Amino acid sequence: MSELRSALDDLAGIDLAEPSDDTLLDLVGELSTTANRVAAALTSAVRAADKRETYRRDGAVSMKAWLRGSCRMAPEQATATVSTGRRLEHLPETAAAFAAGEIGATHARVITKAMTPGRIAKAAEAGIDLGETDRILADLARATAPQDTARGVKQWVAGVDPDGTLDDAADVRRRFTMASGLDGRVHVRGEFDAVGGEYLHTALAALMNGDRPAGDTRSHAERQAVALVALARTALDGGGLPTVRGERPHVRVTIDLMVLCAERGAAGFAGGSLGWAGPINPETARRLACDAGVSRILTGPNGLPLDVGREQRTSTAGIRRAIEVRDEHCVFAGCDAPPEWCDVHHVVHWAHGGPTSCENGALLCERHHTSCHEGGFTIRRDPATARWRTYRPDGTEVLSRAGL
Ligand SMILES: [Zn+2]
Ligand SMILES: [Zn+2]
Repeated sequence: MSELRSALDDLAGIDLAEPSDDTLLDLVGELSTTANRVAAALTSAVRAADKRETYRRDGAVSMKAWLRGSCRMAPEQATATVSTGRRLEHLPETAAAFAAGEIGATHARVITKAMTPGRIAKAAEAGIDLGETDRILADLARATAPQDTARGVKQWVAGVDPDGTLDDAADVRRRFTMASGLDGRVHVRGEFDAVGGEYLHTALAALMNGDRPAGDTRSHAERQAVALVALARTALDGGGLPTVRGERPHVRVTIDLMVLCAERGAAGFAGGSLGWAGPINPETARRLACDAGVSRILTGPNGLPLDVGREQRTSTAGIRRAIEVRDEHCVFAGCDAPPEWCDVHHVVHWAHGGPTSCENGALLCERHHTSCHEGGFTIRRDPATARWRTYRPDGTEVLSRAGL
């Protein structure tokens, strides 16, 4: 181990700017194989410790628990390492390929996960040679990426255990977790059965397939995330969701009245906060309050509510309709996002006395509504031409390249 450690120290000392392109690629390839070998060694060591129940020395209830507690492994990785180690004992060819670094931990997992003791027994009953299967799957894993190996594994499972594939098909468990991180961002992860995933995918695809606004360079992942939020907003705005404690569900922003009425960037004020996700920047709170469909609870300096604006939607449906007809799309320079993506922005915020009217309203897509509040851009309608103009925080105009 100490030699391995000093070899790794040497490796960390290499100046990666030095080697030629070819040498660099060779290095990446070799490191990838080495990482596989190290993962295989880890799996074997975990298996040995698991067998001898060494985890009990530290008061852990299982090897998996010990890996989570002492190695800070994620639960899925701990489960995978323990279970792969156990099952590889029956698959010498796959174990050898892993130990040689020819296949990775994901390959080994794909194969071992399918090789349940029940299926191995069924294969034996059906006269299928386990050694032969092991050789075929190990060769497949050597030659393909894990997702392709998984397809071959599925075929084997379907052959020995047709009921088992039905069991898999009957697995409709779904998980979806959301956590707000310390950085003020929300992290999500989840897992669905094929049918559940298809529903989600179909709805998101429908929301993504609209015409992309001019100059939209967002990645698939970014567009999919925007579509997911749009799905939630459409459901909330549609009013068809079940009521919560007698109220229509809605996004709740709490913000101090002084903060709401303060000018942009005024110092000395804390931000607002969202019911679940927690604190937000005061500009973000002002943007949410600016938008139709978000109710307001104004609290005074003593924290008591001054105004619970449940019924006071900032833009009535009629006014919104009129603004949509006039503006047709997001009015930010160069953007043509359709009305259904847009908020109705108050040019003069209602907190500063701006009326909720056609004159004072403008369609802005969520991104550009953010540019106008958090980003400090402004939009103004030119009385002479009746066209919207966009200004940077420094007062210079953003000239629209679209349609000019
Ligand atoms: Zn606004
Ligand atoms: Zn826009």
